Amino acid sequence: MKFDTKVVRASSKPDKTTGAVVPPIYQTATYVLEEVGRDKGFDYTRASNPSRQLLEEHLAAIEGAKYGVCFSSGMSAVDSVLKLLKAGDHIVCSDDVYGGVSRHFNKVLVNYGLEFTYVNSSNPDEVSTAVKSNTKLLWIETPTNPLLKITDLKAMNDIAKSNNLIFGVDATFSTPVFLKPLEFGADLVMHSTTKYLSGHNQIIGGSIHTNDKEIFDHMKFIQKTIGAVPSPFDCFLTMLGLRTLHLRMQRHNENALKVAKFLENHPKVSRVSYPGLESDPGYSIAKEQMSGYSGMISFELSGGIPSGKHLMNNVKLCFLAESLGAVETMITHPATMTHAEVPADERHARGLTDGLVRLSVGIEDVDDIIDDLSQALENA
Ligand code: PLP
Repeated sequence: MKFDTKVVRASSKPDKTTGAVVPPIYQTATYVLEEVGRDKGFDYTRASNPSRQLLEEHLAAIEGAKYGVCFSSGMSAVDSVLKLLKAGDHIVCSDDVYGGVSRHFNKVLVNYGLEFTYVNSSNPDEVSTAVKSNTKLLWIETPTNPLLKITDLKAMNDIAKSNNLIFGVDATFSTPVFLKPLEFGADLVMHSTTKYLSGHNQIIGGSIHTNDKEIFDHMKFIQKTIGAVPSPFDCFLTMLGLRTLHLRMQRHNENALKVAKFLENHPKVSRVSYPGLESDPGYSIAKEQMSGYSGMISFELSGGIPSGKHLMNNVKLCFLAESLGAVETMITHPATMTHAEVPADERHARGLTDGLVRLSVGIEDVDDIIDDLSQALENA
């Protein structure tokens, strides 16, 4: 099957008993055994569920991975990856990861003896220099949230392989439509399925994909043991959204490029980050390793924080909301919303200024999105 066919049909089989095209939602906690020691492949929904299994197989096929494991959120997927490690292990991590990830690392996992070093992973030398004798995991987000920094995955794979590190990539922003980290040698790829993969602002979810049986077995074990599993209904909704992923992503990509160019030429905008703009520092690597640039933009207004606030308070079509990657255009103020818990000095050191605006460009008519931003920028 070609990629677009896989997106629609990878796991689609008519229901055996009724012929239903859409598989039923197996909303059950448990399963009756045929006799002691003999079940039909399912015994308890924390361990496995047909609705979840279908989604895991579908996502793995799209990712080009042998295995998929789904979680109740992107954060529980990240946490499960970190459970591959032990106290005393060290992690090298992109410095502009989603604020919830750095919060989990710095406020929770450090208490369990894990040690983290954050580096600008756009610069492979910084990554190599940060590796220590106890480093076990290289954790990369590309493009990053919210600065859209791009990391060269080939270079990261060289560093990971020569230092015997597990190489994990959070590819939430790029999606398998535009980037497949496993093809670059990553050991595992992680998604917040809350975002583009489900795409309709209906569920919170996460997934991990790998070709490595040992990693897969460990993730299944953690999934069953911790129980951070998505509900059967959430799996069903994710599947529904997933089947139009390729179409949605093309439109997100086209719209975002037009919006980024509009912002780049706007007199009140001082800086735009979008890896699809030739002026963006990540453009050449993004062009090489991605087949599109997705729908996320961040930008800064010349008038600083007051102008940013004016813009965000005056949009009419764009939703002022957390989250991203859904069909609706959403505008966010990272400093007070998604990254509010990153301490101010750390935020500023990362280049995450108080005037930064993040835009998740939706799939509406792009002229309406631009008109909305234009009117809101008038008095900004
Ligand atoms: N990774 C990235 C890049 C994200 O943007 C997010 C959430 O915004 C997460 C992980 C966490 O995902 P979730 O909100 O589904 O737990």
